[in-house]
Amino acid sequence: MDENINELISDLRTYLEYLKGMGMATLAVTESTPERAPRPGTTTLADVRRELGDCKRCKLHRTRKTIVFGEGNEKATLMFIGEGPGYDEDVQGRPFVGKAGQLLTKIIESINLSREEVYIANIIKCRPPQNRNPEPDEIESCNPFLMKQIGVIQPKLICALGTFSAQTLLKTDTKITALRGKLYDFEGIKVIPTYHPAFLLRNPERKREVWEDMKRISELLRSLQD
Ligand code: URA
Repeated sequence: MDENINELISDLRTYLEYLKGMGMATLAVTESTPERAPRPGTTTLADVRRELGDCKRCKLHRTRKTIVFGEGNEKATLMFIGEGPGYDEDVQGRPFVGKAGQLLTKIIESINLSREEVYIANIIKCRPPQNRNPEPDEIESCNPFLMKQIGVIQPKLICALGTFSAQTLLKTDTKITALRGKLYDFEGIKVIPTYHPAFLLRNPERKREVWEDMKRISELLRSLQD
């Protein structure tokens, strides 16, 4: 037993020396490795929320007011995933309730669905200071919880809203302009990226493309029912 441990330590030392020789001065150690999505029926969103707790896994906990977990139908077929909470969401603890959120509500209603029928979440659950872009370590810390939410809900279709959502889910750095409107696969779930509602507020002429994407989503949902 002792011999095995000594051998392990010696192997580890050799490996660390090797990394040092390769110029690697520090080792990134993640607090928790992303877990596999739970099997349907074994975990609830309330369980995931409980596990998240008063999350302090990344630096955003220092400046946030509220954790914005996500809301909607636990059994939704369609899930929307945005970027992260803004000012209004941080105050109210609910996703997409500010100006961009009001536009998202209209977008959802444009295909005869309500916010209560779908599920709405974000790539990160805490507002970045001054609404800056989410940073990679923040996305990484939050990701296991989004994955668990997806695992519980088991949506058939995800609409990724904007660059961060689409690029994170699809593990790509392709521009949203190239990604939008096309159908992708995320672990067996269909993904359609489209523009973020906040982008549409600044560029209303791009609403037509989002309307095209929503029509596609609506058709896909219909075909899934048949
Ligand atoms: N923008 C997002 O990406 N998510 C929200 O919840 C609000 C605004």
